Amino acid sequence: MSPLSLLFVGAHPDDIEIGAGDLARAACAAELDVHVAILTRERDPSSAARRSAEAKAALRHLGVAPDRILEAPFPDGDLRVTSSTVSYLRGALTALGCDPDVVVTHTRSDSHQDHRAAYDLVLSTFRGKTILGMPIRYSFLPSDFQPRLIRPVECEDAKAIAIDRHASQIACGRIRPDEVSRFDEELGEQIAPHLSRPVEAFDVTIQLGAPSLIATLTRLRGLLQPIGARASHGIGLAAPAGPDDQVQVLAAGGAAR
Ligand SMILES: [Zn+2]
Repeated sequence: MSPLSLLFVGAHPDDIEIGAGDLARAACAAELDVHVAILTRERDPSSAARRSAEAKAALRHLGVAPDRILEAPFPDGDLRVTSSTVSYLRGALTALGCDPDVVVTHTRSDSHQDHRAAYDLVLSTFRGKTILGMPIRYSFLPSDFQPRLIRPVECEDAKAIAIDRHASQIACGRIRPDEVSRFDEELGEQIAPHLSRPVEAFDVTIQLGAPSLIATLTRLRGLLQPIGARASHGIGLAAPAGPDDQVQVLAAGGAAR
């Protein structure tokens, strides 16, 4: 069987590194078929070029080659789900040779309009896929986010270096790297305290016709664990996260982005 194909879709050039940087790195290291789509760009051409270069440098550090990155032209702050944006994304990904088994994008439990639109755009673009939703520390909704899968962060340094590549966003205070690492630690403390590790966490949407979550996790080669599992035996896999599994209080404060 060919390696599982994984597509990471971020609304903005830094989202994937913040929400799923260690998963992206591990997927590349495991030689899965990894592509990335960045959906929006800033209107100012010089800012857009700088952020594009930062994103490529960050993703390269995680193992994603530039020819596997799609940079869509949709406007920052005004991402829409329309027949034309859906058609563009389908066509551009096909041209890139990307037909994903699993799409990692924003959780729908997010207050940023571009992040919610990214989820909806993924939902409308694909059929028969497993969609994993990542929280972004600055805008996710802790009362609504119900993670079902976690990725214990193995290479904190690699994720930190990738985030540091977004120097323009750090300089203007839109990313605070210590807050991002603390967020992963808080997720670990609240969702999987037995691991004593920072984690990345994902909710799950399974489209009609997609394989079972167990089958998908098997093809993910242990990169993700179901919440509640203390070993990689799929314990708790059949039970969706209930109210007790919700992340209750996370990331108080922080500027909306
Ligand atoms: Zn974003």
